[in-house]
Amino acid sequence: MHGIIATWRMALEGVQKADAMLKEGNQAADAIETAIREVEDYPYYKSVGYGGLPNQDGVLQMDAGYMDGGSLSIGAVCAIEDFANPVSIARKLSNGTVNNILVAEGAAAFGKEYGFEQKKMLTDRAKRIYEKKKAELAENDQLRPYDGHDTVGMVCVDDQSHVIAATSTSGLFMKRNGRIGDSPFVGSGFYADEEIGGATATGLGEDIMKGCISYEIVRRMGEGMPVQQACETAVNQLDKKLKKRRGQAGDISVVAMDNKGNWGCATNIDGFSFVVATQQSAPVVWLAHRTEDGHTVFEKAGQQWLDEYMHNHSAAVE
Ligand code: ASP
Repeated sequence: MHGIIATWRMALEGVQKADAMLKEGNQAADAIETAIREVEDYPYYKSVGYGGLPNQDGVLQMDAGYMDGGSLSIGAVCAIEDFANPVSIARKLSNGTVNNILVAEGAAAFGKEYGFEQKKMLTDRAKRIYEKKKAELAENDQLRPYDGHDTVGMVCVDDQSHVIAATSTSGLFMKRNGRIGDSPFVGSGFYADEEIGGATATGLGEDIMKGCISYEIVRRMGEGMPVQQACETAVNQLDKKLKKRRGQAGDISVVAMDNKGNWGCATNIDGFSFVVATQQSAPVVWLAHRTEDGHTVFEKAGQQWLDEYMHNHSAAVE
């Protein structure tokens, strides 16, 4: 029983590729890497890979993580610059017993040593968006500098019940030089255990990390909770705790899949999109909302929403 679940609409084209690979009997490791690379390569997705938005110094720094739920191997790169596919470097790093997580120059040196593709990742379009934002912030200090983020996170299960989780992101737009969110951190941005399943998160990394939410979801699933319930209870409890102790909670959205292909999603925002493909169902984009009583409900994204999404993402930057 195979399947793949991923955060945000931007994952669709990658999930379609991974779904075809899984149907042909390919392994989850190769399918998920292909799917995330597809998002990294696409120039119009502003928060992952090529075309991602830069930090406050105008430099694009990317984070990526990878976990094999069989061996529990982990690999990650943080604040890496000018490599086409950070997720592939993270996967390579997961093969070692030490040196699994590398940052900045160290990550780049590893990428060069192993021949990963180097590429100027800051596009002219992303640079224009940065310059526009910088000018707006200079004029109006009430604006929120961090609008414009999203991580692609995926969990993939193949017919041999291998479970892999992986992420890739350029993190928060206008973040400080060297800032790292949850996405490359095992347990927070992603987690996989093939005896149970996997989970991955997107949203405000600083708050997601306070609950190690991906590990927490897999732990609940391992204790017998259905996937959807594990996602909802974990997100709701963290959201409540943050509001109680800190007065507010950042955006938190999660997706998860167990080793049989059952899946779930939870969010504390309105309008979180995600993509799922399973053995029975072709890739579908879903839209999730949280109800007033704290449940996450979701429906298939309609054609109008899908059309507007593509239109907005490829629209010219004035
Ligand atoms: N979690 C990411 C970060 O904090 C951003 C996101 O997923 O929206 O870097």
